[in-house]
Amino acid sequence: MSYSAEEIRAALNNNELCVYYQPMYVAMTSQLKSAEALVRWVRPDGTVVSPAMFIPEAEESDLIMEIDWYVAEIVCRTLEKQNYMPQFPISVNFSRKHIREEDFAKKLTELVDRYELPHPLIEIEITESAMVVEQEMLFEWITSIRSAGFTVAIDDFGSGLSSLNFVKDIPADVLKIDKSLLSHNCEDEKERIVLESIFTFAHRLHLKTVAEGVETKEQLAFLRSCDCNRIQGYIFARPMPENDYLSLCMAHKAAEDPADILQVQSTSSTVNLLMEVVFRRYPLIIFTNLTRNTYYAMVYKNFTTTSCPSTGVFDELIVNGTNSMHPEDREIFAATFNRQNLIKEHDAGTQEIRLVTRQLGDDGIYRRVETFDYFVKSSSSDDIIAITLCQPLLD
Ligand code: C2E
Ligand code: CA
Ligand code: CA
Repeated sequence: MSYSAEEIRAALNNNELCVYYQPMYVAMTSQLKSAEALVRWVRPDGTVVSPAMFIPEAEESDLIMEIDWYVAEIVCRTLEKQNYMPQFPISVNFSRKHIREEDFAKKLTELVDRYELPHPLIEIEITESAMVVEQEMLFEWITSIRSAGFTVAIDDFGSGLSSLNFVKDIPADVLKIDKSLLSHNCEDEKERIVLESIFTFAHRLHLKTVAEGVETKEQLAFLRSCDCNRIQGYIFARPMPENDYLSLCMAHKAAEDPADILQVQSTSSTVNLLMEVVFRRYPLIIFTNLTRNTYYAMVYKNFTTTSCPSTGVFDELIVNGTNSMHPEDREIFAATFNRQNLIKEHDAGTQEIRLVTRQLGDDGIYRRVETFDYFVKSSSSDDIIAITLCQPLLD
């Protein structure tokens, strides 16, 4: 059953719309961290109507604009009631229509200041489907909200068509991973690969992550192994009326992020930290399958005038690699890093190959670059794999 715009308008005017709160928890420690405000229509006879029954209609008209601001105001009142109690940030859903609202950030600031609340207590959720609007407009909208001290989350990530290319530049704080990406116990290998990759790129782009719709122990265990930051879902709590939420907050101390992250470190977060450091030292890392003549490069920062495509044919990479090299170094470079020579070295049991060459930078100056090659064994085949680490030397 769905409702007409007139019925929804009447509900809004008669104060029949109210707000439920669904807590979110720190994934690693299960401490309360924040909550999401979710609108409900409580009819005079006490029945509770889910937003799925009226939000789509409200989106059709501009009623959604009023509903969202109404919810935001109720959230401020709830936070005001917590003034002398533990307070947790609350996320408010804003329809993508607000992206075109003039002075959105100013209006939000005025509202929150009227209740004298610290801005970091409010997080704005905007759904991924909003990404189809003009990129520049969306980015400006997000930036203006963040400049005013609020945080911004991209909701329902993975549910629609947003391209990774788009997300890579998004100036948001938080990525909320859509529940449709999580199956009952995350046992499908491909699903795990997709999720692991999303968490890896989110962390590397310095976005916090929230998994929503978490219902089972298996999902929770898997999300912890991915180093997910926050969990929202029935496994911890369902959306609840304000009074229940206030009692819940009373029972919890404000959750600090764990003081010693190493104590709750998952394997993937350790690897992420390690990668940060490795990249700092070696801004170009190349994985080569010497047997198949293919490579995959991870370029953190390019420091030569030759660009390095992220994948391709290894023999061609070596030929192109000499373009930015000092003419006197080309011969030794080509002799050392040609595939036949590397395979020969591998077969002879060489552990490490090191070479220093001079590379031309964008500023027209040659700098010394140290290149290391290490051979590794692939666990799944007999192919010979080499990992190359390149590091500009400070002269
Ligand atoms: P959403 O923003 O993705 O909110 C999360 C929805 O997932 C909520 O449904 C929540 O009750 C549900 N959920 C949470 N944990 C679980 C779980 O473990 N399993 C399952 N199966 N579901 C879970 P809800 O409250 O029915 O809200 C539906 C949608 O309505 C929201 O999706 C949001 O898009 C929209 N909505 C709700 N309140 C507002 C609002 O104030 N403004 C706007 N613009 N949209 C709202
Ligand atoms: Ca949401
Ligand atoms: Ca969502």
